[in-house]
Amino acid sequence: MKKLVMGVALLAGLFAVAGCGDKTAATTGGDKKGKEVAKADGQGAKAEPKGGDGHGWWCDDHGVVEEECSVCQAKVFKKLKPDEICPKHPDRAKDQCFVCFPELREKNAAKYRAKYGKEPPEASDNMAEKK
Ligand SMILES: [Zn+2]
Ligand SMILES: [Zn+2]
Repeated sequence: MKKLVMGVALLAGLFAVAGCGDKTAATTGGDKKGKEVAKADGQGAKAEPKGGDGHGWWCDDHGVVEEECSVCQAKVFKKLKPDEICPKHPDRAKDQCFVCFPELREKNAAKYRAKYGKEPPEASDNMAEKK
């Protein structure tokens, strides 16, 4: 009985070794693929919260609702009165210039939080320059 167990164990061991060799080759190939997939996934998640095209409801660059973005939307900008345009940044509305009025950032971030339940991305083109 003991011998039989030993034999089975040996056989199992042999299979394990043989299988191990195969596995190593398969794992190396599979690992590469897995990494590529993970990379692609990471990029997808970074672009937009839910399957958007990158410029959806929110303007990532200016930290406001895209439809209301005076920098990106010409029609919004045209509606501005001269005194509503930021004197220092004539390409945007005063009430969307976070550079001159940093408190506006929080005001607009609240809209994003209300919709997505998390912090908006940094407004890359609407921030006070770091000194
Ligand atoms: Zn914009
Ligand atoms: Zn400004």
